[in-house]
Amino acid sequence: MVFKCQEDSFLTTFTSKVLRCSVTNEPIVEYGKAADFNGYEVVLENTILFPAGGGQPHDIGWLNDVEVLQVLRRGPEAVHFTNKPLEVGTEVTQKLNWDRRFDHMQQHSGQHLLSAILEKEHNLSTTSWWLGADESYVELDTIKISDGIIKTVEQRCNELIRKAIAVNVKICKKEDPVLDEAHTRGLPKDCVETIRVICIGDIDENMCCGTHVSNLSGRPKIYEDAEVEELLEKDSSQSQKELALTLEVTQQAVLSCLKLLE
Ligand SMILES: [Zn+2]
Repeated sequence: MVFKCQEDSFLTTFTSKVLRCSVTNEPIVEYGKAADFNGYEVVLENTILFPAGGGQPHDIGWLNDVEVLQVLRRGPEAVHFTNKPLEVGTEVTQKLNWDRRFDHMQQHSGQHLLSAILEKEHNLSTTSWWLGADESYVELDTIKISDGIIKTVEQRCNELIRKAIAVNVKICKKEDPVLDEAHTRGLPKDCVETIRVICIGDIDENMCCGTHVSNLSGRPKIYEDAEVEELLEKDSSQSQKELALTLEVTQQAVLSCLKLLE
């Protein structure tokens, strides 16, 4: 199953029905550290809370005002761990802890980029990776790497980030020939029917169940001049500064569009 969080990784609220709720004593694993837990596990029709998988840690958030402490993938379902039970059949509002998720998205896309450049341009393949709260790393299939290579790779990644190369998700079926070009790194076994391929421009294609930024700059969207103009026409109540913030462009870009509209 492709969850709502994988369909649209920028959704922060969503409403869904409770399908099941039962007691659990499965531990909570937070960035690799397990802690005892006695509470409830809740399954919903769909979810914007990402269940841990493919190297990416689980999301946290809320179902109405009940805190979600962990989300795990079990077969085709996502299981939400809570301290309080939720009534089966009721609709609940899901809220995502966006700061934590966005950090995971940036780090996960960053890992894809770093691994792609290391492999394609320096023949150094990634054997595993770790996404932590304070530290993330990729493990390479080598015992030595020169400072020169590290510097070159850093400059190359930064250059691509500055260009804000698009990051797109392709959804394929198992037998799709496009999958020959992509390769997997820690993809959960139950993700095999519908396969997501994360494409960074024409630089990389990689099978992955995780959530990603929409372009390497990490900004939600790059607006074309015409789109900025359209938005300015639609909403003239905002100040130039507010518009620049909303659109995540410079105030200068807003100003030049306004001049064109005059
Ligand atoms: Zn990935």
